[in-house]
Amino acid sequence: MIKEVMEKTDITNSDFNIPSDVLDEIQKNIQEIIESFDIPDDNKTDVINKINFMYTQTKVMSETDPLTRLYNRRHFENNFSREFARARRYNSELSLAVVDIDYFKKINDTYGHSCGDYILREIAYIMHESLRGTDLIFRYGGEEFVILLTETGYENAGVPLERIRFAIESHEFIFRGQNLHITVSIGVSSNTSFETPQQMFDDADKALYEAKNCGRNRIKKAVQ
Ligand code: GH3
Ligand code: MG
Ligand code: MG
Repeated sequence: MIKEVMEKTDITNSDFNIPSDVLDEIQKNIQEIIESFDIPDDNKTDVINKINFMYTQTKVMSETDPLTRLYNRRHFENNFSREFARARRYNSELSLAVVDIDYFKKINDTYGHSCGDYILREIAYIMHESLRGTDLIFRYGGEEFVILLTETGYENAGVPLERIRFAIESHEFIFRGQNLHITVSIGVSSNTSFETPQQMFDDADKALYEAKNCGRNRIKKAVQ
């Protein structure tokens, strides 16, 4: 019975990134629940389905940013090293972009945090609409996003990122009747020579600072 529950709930899935002692604790709890209730055979499937639903909900919540509905930083940490390793193993291309909203503090200070939150949600939506289904978007921090462009190298990464930059620059952000002009700066690195995922991220981050220093509302590629 327990084995059946485990298989159906898939709680050993590595996406959870649950430490083994915590996983043991969860399994023990499920065992206790099943044993402490005298569940008739007819209801067992229902119980399994409910546990399955609970774990699925927990999984989605643990990897999603509630404001933008994008993947959160935890999910980025779990996925990036895997995508990086996969790209190296199969010699496929991978690009990483860090996107940061320009002068965002000023927006919050002038129009309030609800306005800032509205802009974060709109930008998340624009990025989602501008990319391929295989690309991954994460809210990394406050007003910073990370995009993983799979099967995309140094030469091609600029195309979807420019689409995003332009879409945001041209978008009509209207908050409580106010028309706002918003731009983003983007730093990007591609995986030709990096030894570690951290190096790849740091190079994109450095390129972002360069984009900021060169006047913002632009994309800078890390030097190869
Ligand atoms: P720069 O062009 O150099 O990036 O300037 P900036 O003002 O965007 O950068 P800074 O890092 O100084 O400010 C980031 C601001 O983002 C600070 C905070 O007001 C805002 N912020 C961070 N998280 C949230 C959030 O969840 N909601 C809202 N509304 N604002 C947030
Ligand atoms: Mg920032
Ligand atoms: Mg900013």
